[in-house]
Amino acid sequence: MAIDLHLHSKASDGDYAPEAVVGFAHKAGVTVLSLTDHDTVKGNREAALAASQFGMRFIPGIELSCLWANTCIHVVGLGVALDNEELNRTCSEIARIRENRALEIERRLANLGIPETIAEIRTLYPEVKNISRAHFARVLLHRGIVKNEQVAFDKYLGTKAPAYVAVPWPELKEGVRLLLEAGAVPVLAHPLRYSFKNPLMTGELVRDFVTAGGKGIEVVSGSQHPIYSTDCEAWAKEFCLYASAGSDFHRITPERPMPGCEPELPRGIPSVLEIL
Ligand code: AMP
Ligand code: MN
Ligand code: MN
Ligand code: MN
Repeated sequence: MAIDLHLHSKASDGDYAPEAVVGFAHKAGVTVLSLTDHDTVKGNREAALAASQFGMRFIPGIELSCLWANTCIHVVGLGVALDNEELNRTCSEIARIRENRALEIERRLANLGIPETIAEIRTLYPEVKNISRAHFARVLLHRGIVKNEQVAFDKYLGTKAPAYVAVPWPELKEGVRLLLEAGAVPVLAHPLRYSFKNPLMTGELVRDFVTAGGKGIEVVSGSQHPIYSTDCEAWAKEFCLYASAGSDFHRITPERPMPGCEPELPRGIPSVLEIL
């Protein structure tokens, strides 16, 4: 079965409306999908409607930014209730923090000789609500200041770069609790994309995620190299986590798969669909 349980739309830092993202997934033969925008469930109703028109199964989703060991970790919540007050309050608070952070990033970029970035973000993404570093990266790319998004993060926006502004995301334990309370299955996103100094930290992260109540792990992710699936599969087995798969689609680029075009989950490992 073709599944894609990690997709972004314009509701966060993706380039396409939820309906268009669902259309891409349908074209690729996906039958079960989830929209997992950063820190918001806002695109889910539109995506659900589009999915029902195509006869696809839709699982409401979110990708929550959390802090663990002072590092931003992403937890996907699958099957999330769209009307959970506490989660929606947290998302509104995060949106407010993102607005303030955007002003500070803009100020720092201006000091580096790159002015008026927020105005350009609003031109490129007129309905933008949850301003992301990815939007600033798009502006730098659009102006020809960097040759790709990776360089934008390395030189300007990444954790060691001059326009980086730390965010007080919810702690991992709190994020997992919020998702569980909202009826979601918490899934650790792209475990090998976090840049810990000590590679053994990832195992510790998985352990703490499980202790907090985490239930799933992305074994296949379009945002990490397929060679890492073996490690993720081993953690899934060690900690009895359900396996998830998603393209982590944001926009059409040669570096990332299209919706539904990530590799299949390995056989013989329980899929997160079993508990959804
Ligand atoms: P934010 O949540 O605003 O801190 O922005 C993080 C987003 O930026 C992620 O969801 C990715 O879409 C994107 N991103 C993070 N790191 C990189 C990177 N090194 N290269 C390209 N995009 C990145
Ligand atoms: Mn993103
Ligand atoms: Mn992510
Ligand atoms: Mn993502």
